[in-house]
Amino acid sequence: MPPAWPGPLPEASPPSDMAIHQLPTGTYETRAAFAFTGGSFGDKRPFAATAVLVTHPQGDLLIDAGFGSDVAAHVHAQPWYARAPYQAGSTASEQLEASSYDRARLRGVLITHSHWDHVSGLDQLEVPIWTNAGELRYAAEARDGKVFRSVSAGHEIREYEFASAPYLGFPLSHDVHGDGSVVVALAGGHTTGSVIVFVTLPTGKRYAFIGDVAWQIEGVRKPAERPRLMRMLADVNAGQVRADLLRVASLAGLLQVVPAHDVGAYDGIPALTERASAER
Ligand SMILES: [Zn+2]
Repeated sequence: MPPAWPGPLPEASPPSDMAIHQLPTGTYETRAAFAFTGGSFGDKRPFAATAVLVTHPQGDLLIDAGFGSDVAAHVHAQPWYARAPYQAGSTASEQLEASSYDRARLRGVLITHSHWDHVSGLDQLEVPIWTNAGELRYAAEARDGKVFRSVSAGHEIREYEFASAPYLGFPLSHDVHGDGSVVVALAGGHTTGSVIVFVTLPTGKRYAFIGDVAWQIEGVRKPAERPRLMRMLADVNAGQVRADLLRVASLAGLLQVVPAHDVGAYDGIPALTERASAER
């Protein structure tokens, strides 16, 4: 276990009306033995495909898009070893609709990376895709970029650039709103332009949406890398993932770390559809 981040935490001045909500769109089934070293084969894990809505007076963003209406085709596009039984619920678009969300507020989908299980829902979200040059290069060439290439067609690409602004041990970052409330840090080991999205709320509560730096929370808590075979199949630079995983592990006591596919890691983040019923 790496030593805890000695601090201080980066400054942030999130506006008082900023908030986050989760939009779970479904899960697919895998086993702990494939998710992290030391996981058991008998331990079945539902992998979350969840979008997170970050509302902000300068405009809202979704972090990842979850499953879309074409999820069956998107699963089918995977190599056989990556196809898994899945359960699809309402898509992010359907949940926005059901909660009477004002679509004019949505500035885009900020993707943690371009793999199918993070971008499938772009097929129903006609908003810009926020990503970086490294990820665009990866998505254009990689076999695993196939679904992205199809769902991103017709979308405006909003390409952001990283500054040499170290953030919690990550050397390159991009402050989306300029107030420290949403900061994207490059963690380019899973894919070339994979990112972690750090969110700070006006309450002081902080989150790290780490994408696939780890697939389940045990990966961060132990910490434990993906098993060797999965590192070979899934990561462009497993050494970089390891370094980033240790950085994330050092932060685990200071903020809520959310591996994209860990259902329980989203606990405490209200569902968007709950907001709708509370206002009714
Ligand atoms: Zn993933």
